[in-house]
Amino acid sequence: MPSTIIDGKSLAATVREDVARRVAALKTSGRSVRLDAVLAGGDRAAELYAESQARTCTAVGIDYRLHRLPEDATYEDVAGRVLLLDTDDSVRAIMVHLPLPLGVDTERVQSLIVPEKDVEGVNPANIGNVVYGRRSLVPCTARAVLEMIESTGIELRGKRCVVVGASNIVGKPIAVLLMRAEATVISTNKFTRDLPSIAREADVLVAAAGVPRLVDSSWVKPGGVVIDVGIHRIDGPSGVQTVGDVNFESVQGVAGHLSPVPGGVGPMTVAMLLRNCVDAAERG
Ligand code: NAD
Repeated sequence: MPSTIIDGKSLAATVREDVARRVAALKTSGRSVRLDAVLAGGDRAAELYAESQARTCTAVGIDYRLHRLPEDATYEDVAGRVLLLDTDDSVRAIMVHLPLPLGVDTERVQSLIVPEKDVEGVNPANIGNVVYGRRSLVPCTARAVLEMIESTGIELRGKRCVVVGASNIVGKPIAVLLMRAEATVISTNKFTRDLPSIAREADVLVAAAGVPRLVDSSWVKPGGVVIDVGIHRIDGPSGVQTVGDVNFESVQGVAGHLSPVPGGVGPMTVAMLLRNCVDAAERG
């Protein structure tokens, strides 16, 4: 039987509609929703991301302000801008585009964003809040993954979940959110031995290793939920194509539910950033 596809585009469209309604309601009560993004340097991918972010925000009524800093910006320049935004009462949501110029300590900059405006959930304080289950801004990709799993209707409590990849901003927060849902969670990384056999036991398998097409059908429990977080541009037979960490053709038909790349976690992650912005504005 073919796997049920978890359609990230359509889930994201529903989130955007909800965000647009909440933004309109805030505006009616005289409050604005705004995202202030800092972009230092001339990284082309970051510039393209900022342009698409501006369009996405405008479409749901969020006022997008881009703060451009030169290519030779120092830590003091970037930190200074973040601190100004932190203390400006009209600013409710802040994010910093990566990569930062060479020599600027990314983690030090991220830890300066006040937690209640940190819509990417990159300040360690927000990660701590996620661990403790306190109300906070959750990293967008982790929030997207949980929402996609929940869309399948699976009850996570007591289920066995395997997360492949344990980075600070993707794999670890996903594992923590699954733990919060009282699932039994196994966090794995590149040193994990016999990973396919561990993965095969999973009711929910999340692939976030950053390795193109790592996960094939031999990793998947028949009928399980498989979420593909990876994004890679690779040369294929018909030119450059976008693939994930899951070998879609191999896993299709084995998994019960499967998220595609493109059109899966990517659009949902963008939608979760918008939702975090409106959450931050409502709490402000
Ligand atoms: P990362 O390189 O920071 O971390 C990778 C993690 O995977 C590490 O814990 C590493 O030990 C583990 N790993 C590497 N090779 C492995 C292997 N063969 N088996 C098991 N574990 C392995 O990467 P990241 O920033 O967490 O990103 C992971 C992937 O998710 C990338 O493809 C990235 O492009 C993608 N991503 C997607 C979104 C989205 O919105 N869809 C957002 C962020 C990242």
